[in-house]
Amino acid sequence: MRDLSGGPRVLLKRLRELMAEPLEPQERLDRIVRQIASNMVAEVCSVYVLRSDGVLELYATEGLKKEAVHLSQLKMGQGLVGTIAASAQPLNLSDAQSHPAFRYLPETGEEIYHSFLGVPILRTGRSLGVLVVQNKASRTYREEELEALETTAMVLAEMIATGELKKITKPGLELDLTRSVTINGDTYNEGIGLGYVVLHEPRIVVTNLLNEDSEKEIRRLAEAMGSLRISIDDLLSSRDVSMEGEHREVLETYRMFAHDQGWVRKLEEAIRNGLTAEAAVEKVQSDTKARMIRLTDPYLRERMHDFEDLANRLLRQLTGYSGHASGDGFPNDAIILARAMGAAELLDYPRANVRGLVLEEGAVTSHVVIVARAMGIPVIGQAAGVVALAENGDAVIIDGDGGHVHLRPLPEHQRSYEEKVRFRARRQEQFRALRSVEPLTRDGQRISLLMNAGLLVDLPQLAESGAEGIGLFRTELQFMIASTMPKADEQEIFYRNVLKQAAGRLVTFRTLDIGGDKVVPYFRGHEEENPALGWRAIRLSLDRPGLLRTQLRAMLKAAAGAELKLMVPMVTEVSEIAAVRELLQKEVQHLSRFGHGLPRKLQFGAMLEVPALLWQLDELMAAVDFVSVGSNDLFQFAMAVDRGNARVSDRFDTLGKPFLRLLRDIVLAGERNNTPVTLCGELAGKPISAMALLGLGFRSVSMSPASIGPVKAMLLGLDAAALAKVMNEALDDIHATTPMREVLAHFAESHNIPL
Ligand code: PEP
Ligand code: MG
Repeated sequence: MRDLSGGPRVLLKRLRELMAEPLEPQERLDRIVRQIASNMVAEVCSVYVLRSDGVLELYATEGLKKEAVHLSQLKMGQGLVGTIAASAQPLNLSDAQSHPAFRYLPETGEEIYHSFLGVPILRTGRSLGVLVVQNKASRTYREEELEALETTAMVLAEMIATGELKKITKPGLELDLTRSVTINGDTYNEGIGLGYVVLHEPRIVVTNLLNEDSEKEIRRLAEAMGSLRISIDDLLSSRDVSMEGEHREVLETYRMFAHDQGWVRKLEEAIRNGLTAEAAVEKVQSDTKARMIRLTDPYLRERMHDFEDLANRLLRQLTGYSGHASGDGFPNDAIILARAMGAAELLDYPRANVRGLVLEEGAVTSHVVIVARAMGIPVIGQAAGVVALAENGDAVIIDGDGGHVHLRPLPEHQRSYEEKVRFRARRQEQFRALRSVEPLTRDGQRISLLMNAGLLVDLPQLAESGAEGIGLFRTELQFMIASTMPKADEQEIFYRNVLKQAAGRLVTFRTLDIGGDKVVPYFRGHEEENPALGWRAIRLSLDRPGLLRTQLRAMLKAAAGAELKLMVPMVTEVSEIAAVRELLQKEVQHLSRFGHGLPRKLQFGAMLEVPALLWQLDELMAAVDFVSVGSNDLFQFAMAVDRGNARVSDRFDTLGKPFLRLLRDIVLAGERNNTPVTLCGELAGKPISAMALLGLGFRSVSMSPASIGPVKAMLLGLDAAALAKVMNEALDDIHATTPMREVLAHFAESHNIPL
């Protein structure tokens, strides 16, 4: 066999010559496939191009029957070629026919070829076609051969993207990015967003692919890498308050990647094979992605997003692309579209202009989604193919209530959504007007309306929503978005910042609630069959007292001289509370022994989320300063429905009799023991359920900031005593069959209460 060392270089040189010749497009394609086949000692080389109808058409071949050109077709996802295009990943097979996706196309005569190597023709992340080589003999193609084919595919991508193939495309079938399309995904955060597409992965079009002088390109790379490292260091050393907390954690990871020698080596190798520095970055980035895309480990997947972000930054350095976050030309109403993205990247955009986020991947628990929720924008995830179908500046509507993305919407669609948005905006305006109105029910009950938070980006909402304080601060979020365990001083700085920004309003910190669906990547226990019932929250904290003590100490120090309110999640037995109190006491003693200031006042509470506590209510109330009902978990455990499983999570009504009676028992126990009781699950955020809570006797509720306005509007019109009477009667009547939700809705309607 011929020695292929230097193969890619030689091939790229020939391709460069071919590209420079004045040839008709079909002729150029034909020569290219011939050149590749000969360079790679392959009997077959074929190019398939994606048409607007989602079909991949054979455009040129060396080795297969010529009559199949422009005739052979495969749909996206169909056969080996369709699989490569759909997954944007290569396939390297020594026995193609035995692959489950193999599909025989009789017109091509390809049955005699056993080995198959195919790569996607990618441009800025979208598959434009597939390039394939085949051999009769059974063999596995080497890594360098795969590299060579991928590099060649970049050149083909350029030809397709510049429209060179239009002449040989059937009219009407060129990839048309002007049509209206709707893509369905999953709702990660509700709401409606209208605006214009901003493609997150910068469509930095690397047109300059092949280098003239490798050494010069390596020097360019080194310079760009140097500036990148400096820019990250600068960001890290900036004293900007917003750089503390979540943003900082992510940047630390970037710094680690920017110094990764393995990455630099791969880039240099691609340059030596004939690419320019920017083309090398693009190539190594898509290789890495292809390799990592199959990972299911959430930690590594998050790291992949961080890495992609960094590679994009490097690409911007090399091409001088200023990026969309620079202000110029950034739409006032931007909807960000990305395959995936890191949390820090979302924070990089001008916040006031971002109206929504659409991800092709992602999960409700991914960091970027957590941050997006904190920013209060609608989010759709798992929107397959959206990036490939969109262009910067396209009009787009995201419907976070139904999980739809309407790209280039039809006028009637546009009008009906505009109407919806106007309606919402008017309501928002009304709610804003209520901000400084005292939350008193019609019968004079003072209700404490608190908000839930977990990141520094949440804090401005405190003033905006008019919440009295923070009823639940989920401290695990800082841990979830960090790449390494936040150190004691980092935690302290973070809590101090939260308290400072809360400006005197009371913050209820909840100690670490990790485990279950809350994945802290660097802190992994064993695989659990039933993580919701597993080693989580306070159980984990008590088994790892060092972790809890560090956190308690950080909170105590951060709140020196002020009031500290803290609570523990997932308590099952009252004895667990005593154990945490003991640790807390030790920390207090330790700090005072070393002369540290202590909080002026300390309130210690427990979350009521596990049904077992219902039979220890009096002991519980006596053991704490306050109780906060975590209705999300309490409902999941009381009704035995997984809160994360969409098939069952809505099966039973949260306003059904069993759950309302259970909540009433808790309120009564609080009153009996003079222990304040609040509720901080999702239940508090919906006006009808918040109304039910007030009817049961709750006088304090904590919810997402966006719910404060609607809930306040409801309570201002509510006669709580009248509702309590109606509810108690209905709950005590064992023969009553009207669902409680209907009883409540009827009460609201007949009393003119806005829900
Ligand atoms: C709850 O379970 O209701 C709660 C507020 O905690 P989380 O949603 O963080 O589990
Ligand atoms: Mg909970």
